[in-house]
Amino acid sequence: MTVAFTTASAIRNDWTVEEANALLNLPFNDLLFRAQTVHRQHFDPNQVQVSTLLSIKTGACPEDCAYCPQSARYDTGLEREKLMEVEAVIEKAKAAKAAGSDRFCMGAAWRSPREKDMPYVLAMVKGVKELGLETCMTLGMLDEGKANALAEAGLDYYNHNLDTSPEFYGEIITTRTYSDRLNTLSNVRNAGMKVCSGGILGMGETLKDRAGLLVQLANLPQHPDSVPINQLVKVAGTPLESEGDVDPLDFIRTIAAARIMMPASHVRLSAGREQMSEEMQAMCFFAGANSIFYGECLLTTPNPAANKDQALFRKLGINSDHHVTKAPQELDEILAQNTAESELFYDASATAAQV
Ligand code: SF4
Repeated sequence: MTVAFTTASAIRNDWTVEEANALLNLPFNDLLFRAQTVHRQHFDPNQVQVSTLLSIKTGACPEDCAYCPQSARYDTGLEREKLMEVEAVIEKAKAAKAAGSDRFCMGAAWRSPREKDMPYVLAMVKGVKELGLETCMTLGMLDEGKANALAEAGLDYYNHNLDTSPEFYGEIITTRTYSDRLNTLSNVRNAGMKVCSGGILGMGETLKDRAGLLVQLANLPQHPDSVPINQLVKVAGTPLESEGDVDPLDFIRTIAAARIMMPASHVRLSAGREQMSEEMQAMCFFAGANSIFYGECLLTTPNPAANKDQALFRKLGINSDHHVTKAPQELDEILAQNTAESELFYDASATAAQV
């Protein structure tokens, strides 16, 4: 099947799995060109948003997500930690801000937050917000009441991933259903918070499952504001510890398809970056990824150290949202001035006819 492509990227909520599949199967260069074209219609291509993720309560989760070292069902040697003190969380948020993050995400390994946890969680939201940071939480399933309470406390984003396609989902999680997940997303949206939702590649899913996941995300009543695309981090002791590797080009293809299908969303290069080369990360940014997690720990799995990320950004000319990039017109003016003034610039147009 051919995929209709116009230069204006419309926001659509009626994607079919066949269309998504066709995108994923495009010749690589065609797919990346389309993704980059769409990306430039909605974002500065040299800006990447930076978030920091902190685990505020680690391990002993009753759910059975097959990829997760925090599930109490798997022996992964992970040390359990109870809910952090509010003050300690605020200190971590201050450090994240100083390191250049503009969003602070707090994750707790719960099926859903308990009533008795809520006052602490709400205090964390308020405290982090007062630092001038955007706030995000991932605490498991939310009912209407808890979603409203978090929104009233000032929570900007709530993360709840769909993980994979509805068809493959049962192979990965049995303790909560796909519709439970969709209900939480609906409660988050109705409470007025921004939705962060994406999935994981490398769990044994087919290409069609990846297409199915993207269709579920793109056909939500509103596209998620953030779409994390994770590469499975295989942790010893979890049922997925021996899964095969994702083909890096297939991973980049999925980022590109996400960019095309959800043109105005931030597509986040999330877990698994530690295993990616600089070249692969650069290709992901070219394919439309424009958000990363900063810092050395992504909940409980390693993440490239912040200074490595800064070095990569410098090499690629990427600035986080804190920095101002030169507008193309300003750059043209500088180049024109230098061309006129400097002998270092070689005027190819003047000699082209002689070649
Ligand atoms: S992914 Fe979340 S819900 Fe699933 S086991 Fe891990 S902490 Fe629990």
